[in-house]
Amino acid sequence: MIYKKKDLVIDGFKPELLGKKYSTPLYCYSLKNIKKNIIDLKKNFKKINPLICFAVKANSNKILLQKIGRLGLGADVVSMGELMKALKSGIRPNKIVFSGVGKASKEIIYAIEKKILLINAESKSEILEIEKIAKLKKRKVDIGIRLNPNTDAKTLSQISTGKRGNKFGVSEKNFLSLVDYVKNSKFLNLKCLSVHIGSQILDHKPYEKMLKVIDKVISKTKFNFEFIDLGGGMGIDYENNNKKLNFKKYASSIKRFLKKFNSKIIFEPGRSIIANAGYLISKVIYIKEGDKKDFIIIDAAMNDLMRPALYNAKHKIIPTKKNGKKINKIYEFVGPICESTDKFSAVKKFQKLNEKDFIVICDVGAYGMSLSSNYNLRPKPAELLIEGSKIRVIGKRQSLKDLM
Ligand SMILES: *Cc1c(COP(=O)(O)O)cnc(C)c1O
Repeated sequence: MIYKKKDLVIDGFKPELLGKKYSTPLYCYSLKNIKKNIIDLKKNFKKINPLICFAVKANSNKILLQKIGRLGLGADVVSMGELMKALKSGIRPNKIVFSGVGKASKEIIYAIEKKILLINAESKSEILEIEKIAKLKKRKVDIGIRLNPNTDAKTLSQISTGKRGNKFGVSEKNFLSLVDYVKNSKFLNLKCLSVHIGSQILDHKPYEKMLKVIDKVISKTKFNFEFIDLGGGMGIDYENNNKKLNFKKYASSIKRFLKKFNSKIIFEPGRSIIANAGYLISKVIYIKEGDKKDFIIIDAAMNDLMRPALYNAKHKIIPTKKNGKKINKIYEFVGPICESTDKFSAVKKFQKLNEKDFIVICDVGAYGMSLSSNYNLRPKPAELLIEGSKIRVIGKRQSLKDLM
């Protein structure tokens, strides 16, 4: 994404023209960025050679999943719907892991029937349920157990998952007793220790701590895990301040860890694969002027992009056409939804905007469309993919008829 003269250009396309042609709000993805992210991740962790399972909850568009699958990634799913979609997108079962604290019986049955790589269990009750189903099906099922390493991910509290007190995983004490139980089960095959301490992690130190905890716990179990699933959570640079997770440092801690344990590493990245490949193109409907602050009312809202309302997350907003005119008050970008949390950001520095101008909200490829809803009975936006010199509609805009 760059400005050519005055116009914003994404991989050769002007988002303003896309907005005019396909209407707004409009999600637009860059295949180039997705490829770049995957190559970058693979390169930095080359020596570790992990199985990379894309976290489908970050973006479950079928065409994108197909592309990601063809680039060699597997999938991390958290529901039967995601598992079905991953399979339909051509991702092979032996590259799929199933996470989540509340897998229902029918979801477990489906996962077992499809022979996926691992069901990562998160409680004793779930393990007993998987065992019961495996016995009925006369099968020995491969599972992992998710450890809660009680490690602070130092990220937004709403997206922290690895602290005691979070609902995810089991404590060290319970982990040890569950390992003993599963080892002796006729219908369960213990294959993996899994963790996932949170999302948008920018500092490698929480990962280092997490690895130390895993190291200690594995040593106590004296069990040889075929897989260690380290989860996802790798943070990206949302604010253009060059703060992003240092892959090299994370890679060296894993290499140190692997000197002691001979396991295959699994990653479950979502955000770091797709966040910066997504743009939300939107049009200014009205400008409501105030003394100190103008409300820029755009046609994208919290139903299209929930992260700001849900986590107070910040996304960069940029104009599609530079005009060089400065403002001397605050611009608050808001959507049309009847909620005060339906706002994107307030900025002091921006160019002067006019009604009908277009803007782009950046880094919305992850947890953007996948978190969208029909709140206020608003149809969901269309999705485009820029594939080389081609534009492809990969998600049709919902019509009002769809909602009636
Ligand atoms: C959400 C989630 C991920 C992906 O997290 P990112 O921050 O998008 O990389 C991976 N694993 C599990 C278990 C998750 O819940």
